[in-house]
Amino acid sequence: MKEVLLIKEGEIALKGLNKRNFEEAFIRNLRHRLKSLGEFEYRIAQSTVYVNPLSEDVDFDEVYDRASKVFGAAAICRCAVCEKDIAAICRTACEYCEPELARARTFKVAAKRADKAFPLKSPEICVEVGHEILEKYHHLDVDVKEPQLVVHVEVRDDGAFIHTGNRTAAGGIPVGTSGRALLLLSGGIDSPVAGYMMAKRGVDVACIHYVSPPYTSDRARLKVERLCEKLTPYLGDVAFFCVPFTKIQEALRDNCPEELFTILMRCIMLDIAERIARKKGMHALVTGESLGQVASQTMQAMVCTDASVTMPVLRPVVGMDKTEIIDIARKIDTFDISIEPYEDCCTVFTPKHPRTKPDPAAVKAALLRYDFEPLIEEAVENTEIKTFKHD
Ligand code: ATP
Ligand code: MG
Repeated sequence: MKEVLLIKEGEIALKGLNKRNFEEAFIRNLRHRLKSLGEFEYRIAQSTVYVNPLSEDVDFDEVYDRASKVFGAAAICRCAVCEKDIAAICRTACEYCEPELARARTFKVAAKRADKAFPLKSPEICVEVGHEILEKYHHLDVDVKEPQLVVHVEVRDDGAFIHTGNRTAAGGIPVGTSGRALLLLSGGIDSPVAGYMMAKRGVDVACIHYVSPPYTSDRARLKVERLCEKLTPYLGDVAFFCVPFTKIQEALRDNCPEELFTILMRCIMLDIAERIARKKGMHALVTGESLGQVASQTMQAMVCTDASVTMPVLRPVVGMDKTEIIDIARKIDTFDISIEPYEDCCTVFTPKHPRTKPDPAAVKAALLRYDFEPLIEEAVENTEIKTFKHD
């Protein structure tokens, strides 16, 4: 049975003069995510993107799943297409909606006839299709007011479309329409969610990760790489920067006040991220910090870390509870990887009594106690770069 996707634009539909740019970005992203699954034709009409597979043996479950994760769409609808013939429409409706018809107790048929040349009017289509369904599925009753299932039939110029309604799509706006940012990605639960949230608002997100071998293992790094891969259905291709951080951490341990260790380390992480972001033409940094979650994520700590860079530091999960963050982590399937118990460089040399309300002047002074510049330059120089491609 031939299937197509109808994808309803979300916020894009409300854009004014820029609408075309957003639509083009959406289709570009969609094309990119689907290209390994076959050939498709893309068309836009009335704020709906129509995706028509041109190849024969397309894995349509996979097409649907991937398209549901591309930001920019409010709703997605998977439809069967058949010829504009009432017998074919009845047959297709019974077959295509079989799983839902088998589960429901009540249903109705809703018909639209955009092609006025079609001989039956909408109410007549409903009657014919409804009859056929009742004949095949004896457990069903018609309920026009509150049916459990609605079988939609749309007769258009290019065929008859049959479906059981829209499902919620990814939401947001297309990746690439809101600039580029560098996400500080740890192996934890929060930062992958932060990356997902910025991508949802159209940001093209790259990731940076700091490793401190031998204190952190290769497996910890591989875990973060797996998180990058997990994010590609949402973020698209992800550039990944891996920064050797051991020498800097050792220098911090040996030369700076212990209670400021974590905050100083964060400042240097952001400094390095900013240098790389600038080189690569990115505009902002992103972290997975949530206010008050741990000792290093207080308002005062954020004041200090912000002061160490000039780029904006975006913290999309700043106002979220851990449980809310976890809900998203589960939805985007990063949670199970995030909870694997590998060490992060942030857990190396952590002070027993970290300063929760660091004074910006004291932090600045502590950073000047030692000349970190050569180590920072060396770390930037030796940063490894990889790209994780979707599929
Ligand atoms: P997450 O769940 O994202 O690890 P967290 O609650 O464990 O967050 P911290 O360990 O305090 O928080 O880290 C705060 C933020 O600093 C992280 O969200 C991430 O953006 C960044 N970060 C921490 N460790 C690293 C690392 N090794 N590489 C890159 N970024 C890091
Ligand atoms: Mg962490």
